[in-house]
Amino acid sequence: MSDNDWGIIGHERAVSLLKRSIEGGRVGHSYLFSGPPQIGKTTLALAFAKALNCTGNHPPCGECRDCAAIEKRTHPDVRLIQAGGSEADAGAGEQSARSSKSRVIKIGQIRELQHEVALLPYEGRWKVYIVRYADDMNIEAANSLLKTLEEPPSAVVLLLTALDAKILPSTIASRCQQVSLGPLAIDQVQAALEQRWKLEPAEAKLLAHLSGGRIGWAIDTAGDRSALAERETELSRIADLSEASRAQRFKYVDEVATRFGRQPDEVYATLDLWLGWWRDLLLMKNECSGLVTNINMFSRLSQQAMRYTVEQIHDFLKAIEAARKQLDQNVNAKLALEAMVLNVPQARN
Ligand SMILES: [Zn+2]
Repeated sequence: MSDNDWGIIGHERAVSLLKRSIEGGRVGHSYLFSGPPQIGKTTLALAFAKALNCTGNHPPCGECRDCAAIEKRTHPDVRLIQAGGSEADAGAGEQSARSSKSRVIKIGQIRELQHEVALLPYEGRWKVYIVRYADDMNIEAANSLLKTLEEPPSAVVLLLTALDAKILPSTIASRCQQVSLGPLAIDQVQAALEQRWKLEPAEAKLLAHLSGGRIGWAIDTAGDRSALAERETELSRIADLSEASRAQRFKYVDEVATRFGRQPDEVYATLDLWLGWWRDLLLMKNECSGLVTNINMFSRLSQQAMRYTVEQIHDFLKAIEAARKQLDQNVNAKLALEAMVLNVPQARN
């Protein structure tokens, strides 16, 4: 592990801010790491926990007993709290940790945290509590956490992660030092996949593009080839709907609306695929083919782009956004999806 980047790919500004706070003896009581899924928020929080508790020469050394225990989630002074409560899940992909919207961080988990923060660290110098996806806290849990944030015990650092800092109650967000993280550059993801994860260049290039800079997604997908195959099948269906009959479109809507009842997150992911596909069509149309995401379906994209006008693509992108908004607002899923899918513009021959 390099002694200057904490072993983190990208997020250079955030790493240097956290490093300076340790070096200057100005470690805050609470930090909020926000940004899209699977860009490395929890990884950064764990690296910070290692840097605070490392007993090696170049913290975080990644090799000492403390670093190793934090990596394995067995360090007594570093706790990970998330919806569902199981620390064992934390190493698994972000998708599995959030596979159902009904999972929330409950009051009992935060009460346990409050009880523990009052005790002195067992081994380490700092007790670190990582509240993963703090936006999953129910209101009682959030109020309870607020008490700890208002009167933080010494030698305790709370690290919250969230998709969007604005979703959290402002009373919580305003008490944290905010660190917002964005997607990495595609080349940076590609280089990391080749160098650190030893992927073949072609595979690294594909995953880096598909990831949109979300390195955690790229790493998870590299380890699960079926996810990539499923993604490709879904995209082909999306592309096929441009030429599908009304009956076929209704059938598709039925299927997706039923899935929304059971696995809403999956349907949001499908809508992301829709958006990605139609944005790619727009890029092809605007002669920016070098920027497309779905590089593995390039020929299909270029065929389809020729059959639409820029206006049609623009209008349909708006229809996708509108459907997503309606799902957020709990409009009947079937109606929202019908309005979108029946509006897929008919491709010209
Ligand atoms: Zn160490």
